[in-house]
Amino acid sequence: MRDVIDLTRLCQEEGVSEEKEITFGMKELTVVGVSYPVVEAGPFLFTFECVKKGSVHIEGRYDLKVTAPCDRCLDDVTCEVTASVSEDLDVTPDTPGVDMDELLSREFLMSFPSKILCSEECKGLCPVCGNNLNHKECGCDRHSPDIRMSAALDAFMKSSK
Ligand SMILES: [Zn+2]
Ligand SMILES: [Zn+2]
Repeated sequence: MRDVIDLTRLCQEEGVSEEKEITFGMKELTVVGVSYPVVEAGPFLFTFECVKKGSVHIEGRYDLKVTAPCDRCLDDVTCEVTASVSEDLDVTPDTPGVDMDELLSREFLMSFPSKILCSEECKGLCPVCGNNLNHKECGCDRHSPDIRMSAALDAFMKSSK
């Protein structure tokens, strides 16, 4: 059941505000076609304030935790994404309420990091055998020209950040 909050009563009188605890209701979040299971979903405190008759301002900060694979070694990482909502909503007969799940997931997507690493020192996977180099050294010869290229590319990506 989606957490749609009816604002028709709250939007009647300017200056009236209410705090509500919101628990994020979706089990997973999808970022560009990849689904990330939600580990922690609140509750978070949000303020709903009638700024003028028919209009409600929603304000709050939240941090959702999702499980995501490390970009280098693919191990699961708990990734905490802090986002905030600061939004004015017009309450009309067509839109009498707000779907908080939708609002929170939208802000989440905008705050989602472009790079997820289990640690800054993550050694990644061996390009020869696929072994996770954080767990053990496999002894492969990784000094082929291709690999030097990808290291250079990595350094370039870092410096251009
Ligand atoms: Zn990693
Ligand atoms: Zn290897």
